[in-house]
Parts: sequence; C-alpha cells; structure tokens
Amino acid sequence: MTENGPPDCPRCGTEPLPVLYGLPGPEMFEAAERGEISLGGCEVYDDAPRWRCRGCGGEFGRLGDPR
Ligand SMILES: [Zn+2]
Repeated sequence: MTENGPPDCPRCGTEPLPVLYGLPGPEMFEAAERGEISLGGCEVYDDAPRWRCRGCGGEFGRLGDPR
C-alpha cells in the first residue's frame, strides 16, 4: 500500500503493520479487524511510531521520518 513497502521489524524481521492515526471511521476499524492496519489513536506527534510489528508487537519508525 505504500510506495516502498514497509521495512522489516528490526527485532524479529516480521513485516509490520502501518500505524494509522486520526479518528478512525468504519473502514479503518474493518481494516484493523482484518489485520491490515494498526490504529494509533487520535493523537499525532512527530515521535509517534510509524510501524507496529505483527510478530513481536514492537513499534518502530517515526511518523516524522519519510519512511
Ligand atoms: Zn518484531
């Protein structure tokens, strides 16, 4: 869904889910239930994690970074 694809988790190497921020609508909840995204909540800040690992649950990357 992203241009470059997600980077692998630095801890376990599993492909992470993108963390989406903002008020989630029904489509975002459905995508989260399907395991396609992770909901990050309404609060957005530069240090907020960009990715959440579906293997170990670790969060990494920064929203403020390009990827
Ligand atoms: Zn991991």
